[in-house]
Amino acid sequence: MSAIYDRVALIGLGLIAGSMAHAIREGGLAREVVGYARSAETRETAREINLCDRIVDSAAEAVADADLVVLAVPVGAMAAVAADIAPHLKPGATVTDVGSVKQSVIDAVAPHIPQGIHFVPGHPLAGTEHSGPRAGFASLFRNRWWLLTPLPDTDPAAVDRLTDLVRAMGAKTDRMEPAHHDLVLAVTSHAPHLIAFTMVGVADHLRRVTDEEVVQYSAAGFRDFTRIAASDPTMWRDVFLHNKDATLDILGRFTEELFVLQRAIRMGDGQQLFDYFTRTRAIRRGII
Ligand code: NAD
Repeated sequence: MSAIYDRVALIGLGLIAGSMAHAIREGGLAREVVGYARSAETRETAREINLCDRIVDSAAEAVADADLVVLAVPVGAMAAVAADIAPHLKPGATVTDVGSVKQSVIDAVAPHIPQGIHFVPGHPLAGTEHSGPRAGFASLFRNRWWLLTPLPDTDPAAVDRLTDLVRAMGAKTDRMEPAHHDLVLAVTSHAPHLIAFTMVGVADHLRRVTDEEVVQYSAAGFRDFTRIAASDPTMWRDVFLHNKDATLDILGRFTEELFVLQRAIRMGDGQQLFDYFTRTRAIRRGII
């Protein structure tokens, strides 16, 4: 595959940027991949494992002469990073981000993007519970969705070029309105994560069941909850703080339905439980 970009700068060298570095370099999708992370320790690790062609010690140096700049830091850090790099961006460059929330990232980042730079926000729907520079791997995005949420005035050629890169890394792409993205992700990812965090917290607080019993006798459901609940706390704190309205909307509906089922159990209303589970089973069968 020939290079899609000349130079790609990755800001933040965790799971997502690390996976991009592997995929881009293995696929020959850029002539050079330059990386920067805020912590000296992360940069050192990235150098040790040869994550990028070059690891530099400032964001300004990373973005100099880059055709594509990827903001791969926690959602709450996006604005500060955008402000930091703005004066150093090459005219005509594209800036994208990989944040799990889109509207608040756009609101925070877009005002810093100078004229002549294309901002194309995005979100790969791919991840693991691992974080940091050693967590990345080239196949993370294979057959996973990568949603792009371009603004109405974004240059279509810049969106197409980023789409080419994302597809070359093995992902499927779609475009979405940022606010709609946030609602969809609140249902499919953010609220389920919160429920998993809560369930693991509940198990931890039970005094009559030991932690060993919880681990030893956990069936697939709870095992998956513990895996999800091991995800990076900074990332998930920022997701909830920045997708507040959509998450609260979904959690409100979830709580209402939970109360209905709770009452059915208390009242011994087997028919209501059966009907509810029949409906949810049909939904699953309809989408798989
Ligand atoms: P991570 O914790 O593995 O890595 C984050 C990196 O950013 C770290 O290297 C950290 O040192 C660096 N960093 C933090 N603040 C910084 C700053 N101010 N300047 C420069 N570097 C900074 O996180 P990740 O999983 O790669 O997530 C990165 C982004 O991708 C987040 O916005 C997250 O919402 C999004 N995302 C994560 C997943 C997932 O499942 N992990 C999936 C899709 C999108």
